[in-house]
This record gives sequence, structure tokens and C-alpha cells, in this order.
Amino acid sequence: MPAMTKDIDMTQNPNAQTQAWQQLDAAHHLHPFTDNGALNAKGSRVISHADGVYIHTPEGDAILDGMAGLWCVNMGYGRTELVQAATEQLNTLPYYNLFFQCTHPPATELAAQLTSLLPDHLNRVFFTGSGSECNDTVVRMVRHYWASQGQPKRKAIISRHNAYHGSTMAGASLGGMKPMHAQGGLPIPDIHHIDQPYHFGEGQGMDANEFGLERARQLEAKILELGPENVAAFIGEPVQGAGGVIIPPETYWPEVQRICRQYDILLISDEVICGFGRLGHWLGCEHFGVKPDLVCMAKGITSGYVPLGAVAVGDRVAQGLLDNGGDFNHGFTYSGHPVACAVASANLKLMADEKVLERINEHTAPYLQRRWAELADHPLVGEARGLGMVAALELVADKASGKRFDENVGAGTVCRDFCIESGLVMRAVGDTMIISPPLIITEAEIDELIARARRSLDLTWQKLVG
Ligand SMILES: *Cc1c(COP(=O)(O)O)cnc(C)c1O
Repeated sequence: MPAMTKDIDMTQNPNAQTQAWQQLDAAHHLHPFTDNGALNAKGSRVISHADGVYIHTPEGDAILDGMAGLWCVNMGYGRTELVQAATEQLNTLPYYNLFFQCTHPPATELAAQLTSLLPDHLNRVFFTGSGSECNDTVVRMVRHYWASQGQPKRKAIISRHNAYHGSTMAGASLGGMKPMHAQGGLPIPDIHHIDQPYHFGEGQGMDANEFGLERARQLEAKILELGPENVAAFIGEPVQGAGGVIIPPETYWPEVQRICRQYDILLISDEVICGFGRLGHWLGCEHFGVKPDLVCMAKGITSGYVPLGAVAVGDRVAQGLLDNGGDFNHGFTYSGHPVACAVASANLKLMADEKVLERINEHTAPYLQRRWAELADHPLVGEARGLGMVAALELVADKASGKRFDENVGAGTVCRDFCIESGLVMRAVGDTMIISPPLIITEAEIDELIARARRSLDLTWQKLVG
């Protein structure tokens, strides 16, 4: 048994406390998406408390959280309204299930509240515990739907390379991350991938809208290759998040929707990041004028305070399942957990009370994007792009030609480490630097974010180029 950390008096020596946590972490904890051997040698970064848009170390360093945790703490840290909702629900009904013909007020009320915010054809909700579980749910639901409609051969689901749909077996299979597929024998059968609409990375020299059409039409080619009678659905994030904030050209989504309709393929929008205001709408697909049959939501639904996922099911699929589906043999112990639902309801109410969408659309997003675009003048930056409250920078070795750094330079990692040193969480996806700050960030805090980002770019430039 290791020594209990509480034996160490933090007020006397915060460093000793931090080191004790790091030692326990190295001895007993395996981190997600981490080379744990390498991390143990270096020591993990301890984050002990947070408020507003800042996370804090035990030593009291304040770091501006440019990623809102993992794209989720949309309403910021320290919101007493959410804490109070959780506390009240824990006192009233901390748990009950929704399996055996039961329901409870928090799940019922949240389902109604959600569908009132979503586009008109989305009137029913299936709850899960996470984004990954939403994607597992849609795989089973669309296949079950087609079987119930007398088309059991429609099993194939088409996704994109470099998409992220979570880390369960189905989620990681739908995702197009090669390093994930390489571990554990993925993808599972009947999942297919087409190329992503990543203009800077894969379409340079081509007109963006032409490129968008070309990438969308790969969907049609894939449907024809598989046979439309074998295809159940297409899934995509409106803007790819974990893949590097990849914003498709304007032509892309309307063409994808046209193709899905032409071949009667269900369209699934993974809104785990883009939903709840990130792109200035309740759903990101609304920005692109797309009407999906199914929608996956998580992360911002509770501002990350507790885990919750929800699949919104459009009228067509819901009606088909109600009429002919029989039992849907799927669900989770924590589907619609009452505490999570109560926090989500409070979070949606808080968003409405504080008029967050109006504030983003009228002030914060235009301001963020204007200030972010200024970073394009930096010698390291090949492209600065953004939409709503997400943004990305492409780091390049040669600005004029857009040539990348050698992979072994690790330019993104170098820049990310300088960001942390400068008091900013900015994530690196390869050499793409990305941000997704809390939606409640102020203009003054955006100024600080930009100043810290520029400082980090300067330091990266000095180190890599001289
Ligand atoms: C984070 C994410 C997921 C997975 O959600 P978890 O809650 O981590 O399981 C799925 N889809 C997208 C688009 C995501 O960003």
C-alpha cells in the first residue's frame, strides 16, 4: 500500500503533494490514449481545481483552457447551477433504470426539452452514457431498423478516414483513425471509409468547393461499389474535431445529403462536439443546412460535469421501429442516469438563461475568428481557419509553398508544450494546432488566448527555425 496522499500537508509544501500524486499515478493508473511508460518517466501534470475558463495546478498556476476540457466544458468551470441540480437529484432519486417499463422525471423531462430545441423531425431520444455509446447505439439501431423494414441486407455503414467517433469497438471502427484500427483487430465488419474533406491537407491546388464535391462524390462511388441495397447509413461529424478541426467546403454537406436521399441511405450526424452551440446552433448540421435521420450527442450536453450521451432519432426511423421493430435488444445500466439528466436539463436552461447562442453569434465567435485570423501572418502558419467557437492553425516549414515540417521534428508537440509553458491549453493533432474554448469565454479572455498562442508560435519558431 502506498502512503496516503492526505498525510502530506499541501499548505506546507504543495510541490511535495504534487510529487506524491505523480508517484501514485505512475504506480497505479493507466491513462487513456497515452504511452504510459513514457509518461511515468516524465510525470503527469496534476490539475487540481478550476474556475471559469481556467484550470489550476496545485501550485496555483492558472492555465487558460483553450480546449474546454475535452471539447465539453462549454459553460465553464464552477457553475453552481449544475452542482445544485446534481445535488438535488442525488438527494431525490440517485439512480433508477429505464429498462422494465419504468421512467423517471429527469429522463422524461430532458427528452422533451432536447427535442424542443432540435429540428422539427427529431422527436425522440435514446440515452447513453457517452459519445462512444451513442455510436454503438446507432450502428445497432440503423441495422435493426432496416431489418424491421424487410431489408436485412442493409448493414454497411460508410464513414470517413480520420473521423473520430469514440473508442468502443463500434465507435473506433466507425472512426477512421489508423493507429486505433491497428490495435484490437478493427474495424468490425461492414464498416467502410472514404476520404475526408480536408482541403489544406489533401486538396491544395484545387478549388475548395470543387474539392468538396469530389470528396462528397466518393460517397456515391462507395455506395455503388457496395450496392445501395447493402448500405444502411453514412455517418459524419459536421466539422471533424479530433481529426484536426477539419471544416468541409460549403459544397460538401449538401452533396452528401443529396446522395443519401438519392440512394435512400440514412444520414447520421455525430454532433458530440459540434452540438450545443459549438458552431453557433444547437446542432452543427444546421449550419450546413443538413437534416440527419439520427444525431449523436454527448460532451457539451452536460458541459462535461457528469457523463451523458443521447441519440436523437428522426421520425422516419422512430416510426419504423415503433410500428415493426419489436424489442430493441440494447441499452445501458446508466442509460438516462437521473443525475446526468438533471445536470443536462440545468445546463440547457443555463444556456438559454444566459442567451449563449446569441452571445456567440453576435459577439464572441466573430471576435474569436477575427483575432484568430490575425495569426495567419505568423511565419509558421500556413493556414488559420475556424468556424463558430472552434479554430485551427496549420504549422508549416515553408509558408510560401505550404510545405510541412519533417514528421520527426514534431512541430505540433513542440508548439503544444510552449503553449502550456505560456499558460494555454492548445491541442496538437500532428502539426495542426486546435482550440475549442468554453463558450462563455469573454473578449478579454480571447485576447489573452491569442497573446499566449502568438507567444508560443514565436518560441516554436525560435526553436525550430532559429
Ligand atoms: C469525443 C467524441 C466521441 C466519443 O465520445 P466519448 O464520450 O469519449 O465516448 C464521439 N464522437 C465525436 C465526434 C467525439 O468528438
